[in-house]
Amino acid sequence: MLQQTQVATVIPYYERFLSRFPTLRALAEADEQEVLTYWSGLGYYSRARNLQQGWRAKYGDAAYRYCEDTKHRLVSRARNLRRGAQYLMANHGGVFPKTRPEALAVPGIGPYTAGAILSIAYGLPEPLVDGNVQRVFARFFSFAPLLESKEAKLFFWDQAERWVRSALDPRDFNQALMELGATVCTKASPKCLQCPLHNDCAAFASDSAASFPKRKPRRAAEKLWWASLVQENAGRVLLVQNAPGDWWSGLWDFPRLEAQAAETVDSDVRERLLEEPHLEFQRALPLQEHTVTHHRIRVSPIVLRWSGKPRSGKNQRWVSPEDAAKLPLSSLAKKILGSYQRE
Ligand code: SF4
Repeated sequence: MLQQTQVATVIPYYERFLSRFPTLRALAEADEQEVLTYWSGLGYYSRARNLQQGWRAKYGDAAYRYCEDTKHRLVSRARNLRRGAQYLMANHGGVFPKTRPEALAVPGIGPYTAGAILSIAYGLPEPLVDGNVQRVFARFFSFAPLLESKEAKLFFWDQAERWVRSALDPRDFNQALMELGATVCTKASPKCLQCPLHNDCAAFASDSAASFPKRKPRRAAEKLWWASLVQENAGRVLLVQNAPGDWWSGLWDFPRLEAQAAETVDSDVRERLLEEPHLEFQRALPLQEHTVTHHRIRVSPIVLRWSGKPRSGKNQRWVSPEDAAKLPLSSLAKKILGSYQRE
């Protein structure tokens, strides 16, 4: 539960979950739907759903897919919890095993959870590595390879194992190490002078804590320039539905022109007007900046009048601005429609 949210938020949900499933047997024998219901009651599922809806509106389909994945991960965690309980009932008489290989064989238990259970529940000298531990080690050793590398993973687990094996109390040690990362060796402004490791810490000695851990540089945002064409005819505007595989697929948008560079937006629109004698330039709306994952898009919304009978087609609609607002629009289309209605 704590892998998803904060302690204060979890406590009442945790208590409710435990009062319904007080033993491994109760969890193992429970109906999967009921476990999922109690799990969704924990707030994660609805949080993922809200996130998904909010993100889809804001960032489009890539973020939507990410949220869908998150939602599936959360649901699969609940399923694994029940499967884990069933596995323990069937194979270990309802008692969590005391060796790492046996712990790792339990459905839903990975290296971190195995280390946490074995050390904290049983006091065994088993290592664990989470994001906080990685940060402490990366700074303590001034560890240069990228955090995402295989080398870093091996190094951190190896160090965690060495340290916990020499600890007086593995239970306290593992918790203290994580807590140190969470409260002292924090991402921003580590409190080195209060840190019990500072006499031996390489990053503190070279005053370089802020430059560890090393991470893959973020991809620079790609810049795009679009013109969004608000075509009007007899009080209606033209909307098109984004095709499958396109950004914001299934959502409605104003037709757009994608330019090669900022300078070519105007000339591309002029060319389009020459190709379409029915279209007549009316006015430009304020520029919009829009960000989608790794793209920063500068959008020039341009109002054009369509004279004569409007052409229609599949996945195109002429609608009043009021009806347009009721359609599932991309967030960019919503911004442009708002600006069009205000003008
Ligand atoms: Fe982190 Fe500073 Fe402690 Fe080093 S001395 S482990 S950088 S808090």
